Amino acid sequence: MVFEKTGDPLKCRERPIPTPGDNEILIAVKACGICRTDLHIYEGDLSQGKRPLVLGHEIVGMALTLGKNVQGISVGDRIGVPWLGKSCGRCPYCRVGRENLCDLPVFTGYDIDGGYAEYTLADYQYCFKIPEIYSDAEAAPLLCAGLIGYRALRMAGEAKRIGLYGFGAAAHIGAQIAIHEEKEVYAFTRPGDLLAQNFAKNMGAVWAGDSDTAVPEILDTAILFAPVGALIPLALKNIKKGGTVVCAGIHMSMIPAFSYDLLWGERILRSVANLTRQDGIDFFKIAPQIPVRTEIQTFPLEAADDALASLKEGKIQGAAVLVLNS
Ligand SMILES: [Zn+2]
Ligand SMILES: [Zn+2]
Repeated sequence: MVFEKTGDPLKCRERPIPTPGDNEILIAVKACGICRTDLHIYEGDLSQGKRPLVLGHEIVGMALTLGKNVQGISVGDRIGVPWLGKSCGRCPYCRVGRENLCDLPVFTGYDIDGGYAEYTLADYQYCFKIPEIYSDAEAAPLLCAGLIGYRALRMAGEAKRIGLYGFGAAAHIGAQIAIHEEKEVYAFTRPGDLLAQNFAKNMGAVWAGDSDTAVPEILDTAILFAPVGALIPLALKNIKKGGTVVCAGIHMSMIPAFSYDLLWGERILRSVANLTRQDGIDFFKIAPQIPVRTEIQTFPLEAADDALASLKEGKIQGAAVLVLNS
């Protein structure tokens, strides 16, 4: 399913099966999660990427053919491909283990073709083995929503009470990790979205309510998964002195001006960007131990447009996943 330009639906195209380079694996895609970032690319909020483009950076598939340098992965292995498709290894960030901030990164389903397809290529050094307890479709959202939820939680620092704004794919995974660590989760949704609020309570949130309301207890930290800048002053208002507001999305609408009082008291406002391979190694180790479960809604590959529309309208409970039946 090929993205050609903003405003056009994805086009179903027959293409030759790609040939892997020396460091690449040819992968038969089994499932590909749909991330909000895909929606930002599709709608033109992020416009720097390749065109035409195959979206998708939460890929689970089977290794079919290996380039000559590939090590540690065999034909037939199940592997996952995340958003970080490649980093340069030489820039000041890569040199200190902060490859998520690489100056010359290559992102899957943005700079190179991704997983809304039957076949894709990936650099073996950026792939992960998928824990056995997950089906292909259940595992797909772990590759971005899971990793970002995990990284955002780490960036939130020491906290007992955590507010999660936007209870979608990343939050429902982050909540499980937080609850496992004996933290209390407070879920904020679009005003009046009782379905999402019930979903959050079923996932173990101690409180769920509208994003424009104050919480019963002052929070230690808040993570914004919703791409809505207007939530930042609201979240700052809900956290204690010294607390952190983490913005976990790649794009956000404009942040309204707000009084410095909201930031005063050593409150911290920060973003979290991309992932490192170490995040993936750490996350895929703890996810099956907790165990993190993913709530998914599946779509056939040809229905990728419908899936993106459902995500935009807030109709997806948990994560949307394209499933390939080949
Ligand atoms: Zn993503
Ligand atoms: Zn770099």
